[in-house]
Amino acid sequence: MNKFEVKAFGTQAADAPLKQMNINRREVLAEDIEIEIMYCGVCHSDLHTARNDWGGTVYPAVPGHEIIGKVTRVGSGVTKVKVGDFAGVGCLVDSCGECESCKHDLEQYCSNGWTGTYNGKDKHLGTRTYGGYSEKIVVDEHFVLKVPANLNLAAVAPLLCAGITTWSPLRHWGVGANSKVAVVGLGGLGHMAIKLAKGLGAEVTLFSRTPDKMKDALELGADAVVISTDADHMKSVTGKFDLIIDTVPYIHDINPYISTLNVSGTIVIVGFLGGLEPLLSTVPLILGRKSVAGSLIGGIAETQEMLDFCGKHNIVSEIEVIKIQEINEAYERMLKSDVRYRFVIDMASLK
Ligand code: NAP
Ligand code: ZN
Repeated sequence: MNKFEVKAFGTQAADAPLKQMNINRREVLAEDIEIEIMYCGVCHSDLHTARNDWGGTVYPAVPGHEIIGKVTRVGSGVTKVKVGDFAGVGCLVDSCGECESCKHDLEQYCSNGWTGTYNGKDKHLGTRTYGGYSEKIVVDEHFVLKVPANLNLAAVAPLLCAGITTWSPLRHWGVGANSKVAVVGLGGLGHMAIKLAKGLGAEVTLFSRTPDKMKDALELGADAVVISTDADHMKSVTGKFDLIIDTVPYIHDINPYISTLNVSGTIVIVGFLGGLEPLLSTVPLILGRKSVAGSLIGGIAETQEMLDFCGKHNIVSEIEVIKIQEINEAYERMLKSDVRYRFVIDMASLK
């Protein structure tokens, strides 16, 4: 397989900072699109992967799965975009295309294993996949998204992960004008959950540990903010919500949130991956037919649906643009929940 070298920013070990390196991209195949990356959002999953929080990171690792750029080359069979168009790539760059999940536009649940944009297995090169902290990426056209022309491109980048990860559960659980939705954690995912749930017409409450984010949350469209560390404040919303989207990245107690669900309500965990502590009581689940669920990003068709919705409703992420050389500092700020509300790398800084 022919390949070519591009500049990237990545890490060689869990405890090493990210720095400049070179990686290979495959030559453009018939169904492939080459994108010169203009902007890449910084997801907490990038940090989890760089630091091997989930285990399984193969180094060198090049994160980045909120990619916006310009199409620079297309294969002979490509019909979706043409050279010069803007395009997006999210968390997925491949899947089997044949299993029941893939046939139903749920590539993220591919039973033969989907390929992540980074730290996935690249079936063409036989190496790991490398993400968007790089000059260029080559992706099968099925996994490339069209970008609404009316939106700020840098602020669209986070929609490719933070947007779709919160959109998918909102749609799956049928959120609309009569829904009462809550969001746990005001970071990248959390602020998109508020905007998208509001866009769908729901009443939205934010649960946050950080009182000084209250004003921002209301400006982002939240109808109310509940400080999750204040027991009396939590009690004031007992039995209220149809759906809670929990974006907290680290282990935490979800029992207090269960009490705030309505009968038949669901809490969807999208943030923390692993075993929960303290133990989850089944009592309120059984007495109130409540559910605890999980959700992974979203399929390609659903991602396009979300982008089109955002184009129509003028929804983008709140961003702080950084240079790639500032990425290690950005990770430290992310660990302190000091992101308002998504870092986006201006990839021109890598040139
Ligand atoms: P983020 O920007 O760092 O935001 C996380 C927010 O959670 C923080 O701003 C903070 O909000 C709250 N928080 C952080 N640590 C906490 C703790 N120990 N206890 C309670 N609350 C805490 O992260 P993100 O990019 O939104 O990502 C969130 C999580 O989702 C990450 O674990 C990421 O890997 C995961 N993720 C999952 C999927 C999926 O498909 N399921 C996709 C993308 C990302 P407050 O200050 O308001 O409390
Ligand atoms: Zn992500």
